[in-house]
Amino acid sequence: MSNLNRMVDRIEGSRDDMTRFMVEVLKIKAVNPDGGGKGEFERAMFMKKQLEKAGLHVTRHDVPDSRVVEGVRVNLATVLEGEDEGRTLWIAAHLDTVPEGSRELWATDPYVPIVKDGKIFGRGAEDNGQAIASTLFAVKAMKTLGVKPKMNLGLLYVSDEESGSKYGVISLLEKGIFKSTDMALVPDAGSPDGSQIEVAEKSILWLKITTSGKQVHGSTPEKGLNAHRIGMKFAIQLDEMLHSKYAGKEPLFDPPTSTFEPTKCEANVENVNTVPGLDIQYFDCRILPQYPLDEVMGQIESVRLRLEKETGAKIEVDPKQREQNANSTPMESPIVQKLKNALKQLRGLDATPIGIGGGTVGAYFRRSGMHTAVWSTIDDLAHQPNEYCKIENMVDDAKVFAYVATT
Ligand SMILES: [Zn+2]
Repeated sequence: MSNLNRMVDRIEGSRDDMTRFMVEVLKIKAVNPDGGGKGEFERAMFMKKQLEKAGLHVTRHDVPDSRVVEGVRVNLATVLEGEDEGRTLWIAAHLDTVPEGSRELWATDPYVPIVKDGKIFGRGAEDNGQAIASTLFAVKAMKTLGVKPKMNLGLLYVSDEESGSKYGVISLLEKGIFKSTDMALVPDAGSPDGSQIEVAEKSILWLKITTSGKQVHGSTPEKGLNAHRIGMKFAIQLDEMLHSKYAGKEPLFDPPTSTFEPTKCEANVENVNTVPGLDIQYFDCRILPQYPLDEVMGQIESVRLRLEKETGAKIEVDPKQREQNANSTPMESPIVQKLKNALKQLRGLDATPIGIGGGTVGAYFRRSGMHTAVWSTIDDLAHQPNEYCKIENMVDDAKVFAYVATT
């Protein structure tokens, strides 16, 4: 029997252990502090123990954060030496979760995991529990069978993915633990059959728009300046300008166009008979790589100046998030080719590279020069009530990781 077949068999045989492990992980609440939780410290300690029990040497990277009782956010790294010790393939899973949202939408307690109909239900089951389990069991199989990875295989269990990764991947990149010739695989987005390999992300631009006028009584609007009306006008002008100026399509992306969405509005006056003097609203824009964000901001500025002049209101545009897209990972990159090959061999699938609207840690790895693929097999239930992971996906993704690491 080949090493690959032995690993696949071994992983298949650990289905029940994996399920039990996942239930243990999901019982440990790890809600991100920005979502009102106490963080992922306890889950990280559990994970460290599991990795050490599997015979792996674990390095702990602590990042100070005064909001959590432990005072630090923990990131774990472990490296399995490869035949080629010069480069490392990193697989990054995140430990934190978002909160459960509205409890009444859950059929069961989000923090008491339930195994039912081949699925494990609980907050964080798919995002990113599945990846925590499948990466661990892939490495366990390799360790037990004495199969060496082709290049070093690094596993990362990081903090703070759900809130910008400042205490997670970004701090690891700043510490310089990666080389630009390393590669990364991020199992934190995907499709139900695993046929999509994400190689590119759009740029992200979040805008906060503050319009200031003059607040007066609702019966005498002529004495004031209605910030709400001007704010709405600005939003519509912005919406129309962005959609017409940046209408290009790129078939690699899903959806293939840039998106510009007016989203949140902050509450203004409390009563109907007051003309608002202040209006605050937000846009979430995901922009195709062909459009530099500097240029987009320049166009927004000219709409802003024109409307300010026309109305006499003060309009401010503050980019709350502004991330120019990172270089796309080329299709010929070994990480994409290894994944494609594994999916062909194990599932008979012809996987296709795609681009998405952004938001995984893949963008940070790419920006540092590392070729990065974002891939997993999921029903896409992240952040939803009754989140689950299919046991089959958890087991089969572990096989793909073992295959990718050893071919
Ligand atoms: Zn996630």
